[in-house]
Amino acid sequence: MEEREVTLAEVLDARERRVWIQNELIRKYDCPVISFTMNIAGPVKVTALTVRAFEKGMRMLQKALQEAEITVNKEYRISEHTGYEAFLSVQADAKRVKDICVEIEESIDIGRLFDMDVLGTDGVKLDRKKERSCIVCGREGRYCASRRIHSAAEVASAMHKLLQTHFLQEDEERTAEQAVCAMIEEVCTTPKPGLVDRNNNGSHEDMDIPLFVRSALSLKPYLQTCFRLGYEYRDEPAAMTFPHLRNAGLEAEKTMYEATSGVNTHKGALFHFGLLTGAAGRLWHAEGTYDLTEITDTVSAFTETVLGRELKELKEVHTTGEKLYREYGITGARGEAMEGYPSVREIAMPVFVRALEAGHDRNEAGALALLQLIAGTTDTNMIRRGGKALADEASSKAQALADKEKVSEQDLLDLDEYFIENHLSPGGCADLLAVTYFLYDLTRG
Ligand SMILES: [Zn+2]
Repeated sequence: MEEREVTLAEVLDARERRVWIQNELIRKYDCPVISFTMNIAGPVKVTALTVRAFEKGMRMLQKALQEAEITVNKEYRISEHTGYEAFLSVQADAKRVKDICVEIEESIDIGRLFDMDVLGTDGVKLDRKKERSCIVCGREGRYCASRRIHSAAEVASAMHKLLQTHFLQEDEERTAEQAVCAMIEEVCTTPKPGLVDRNNNGSHEDMDIPLFVRSALSLKPYLQTCFRLGYEYRDEPAAMTFPHLRNAGLEAEKTMYEATSGVNTHKGALFHFGLLTGAAGRLWHAEGTYDLTEITDTVSAFTETVLGRELKELKEVHTTGEKLYREYGITGARGEAMEGYPSVREIAMPVFVRALEAGHDRNEAGALALLQLIAGTTDTNMIRRGGKALADEASSKAQALADKEKVSEQDLLDLDEYFIENHLSPGGCADLLAVTYFLYDLTRG
């Protein structure tokens, strides 16, 4: 977004235009008018953050008017670098409308920057019952403003900080929520070969959907922490963030085991989502939008040095993943992270997107993406449970299906039966499906 300084002449012109629009709306409809502008100090009035705040204020205003069953005769907007403005002619008593506006201004922190003026049919602005406090020091009333206690730069900086804090927090919560939703959507995707789904509990006796949901929900605070860590260490080399994310992950594992009474539901997902939310935090910017490659590249930058070195220096073998790396050079979940999720970018995501475009719903598209993942990747969970030979056979079966022109639901149900009979569960692929859901929503939302 281009940020431009406004001149005094432009500010005066904008004010004159505002008065003209207000009067026109009153003349035409003979109803009170809400005039919504942002109260922004300093010469730059329009930034990504002020626009986000304005749009949020508009949504709150429209919702409040709807809930109060107030009819809007006309809504008129101006989006210029002198500031975003909205004018609403409303069919209601001006005092009642003013109360609604003040309530919005006081309901959230950034409401401090909303100027929702209400003009009666006589064109006179209604007063606020209570003056607002100073944005820099919090002193009540207009004391600081009227005496110019703080410099314009100080006031502008306090406003910027308020906006930044608000939207960073909002995005942190939203990103963690998207990750939790992706995990829940993954477990609900049906049919999935050998995995817990809505038809059955697959090759598992100790897990079901409610357990996965409880587990996913327990991880939300941790995912917020990872986002925050990514943001806080954004100016350091990416590899320096990894130890912090890993420490948070160890804590989260305890929380998960508490939520599931000792069942490993999301250890793999936890690894991926800690890194991905951390990457989102590192890349955070005011618009709150993300690019797929930037996110996966960042995960790669977090992990490649540390994990690469650990694998190379591996002496004692503790986990299945380490054993498989030693024996077959299979890098599993670690490898996916280090290389920036090639299986998601090159296998699952293209299948998922094409299936959606072809008219499949998310469940069907997800099931097809999972099939391609089972066919095209090496899942350490499958090898752990059934040995390398059986895991390879299962992958070939999946591959044969994936090669078909059209995969039917019955095909997938048959594959599910085969996986259950052989006690196989492609948990690593399921994690990558959850990652696919998450990255799709994060980068297209
Ligand atoms: Zn003050």
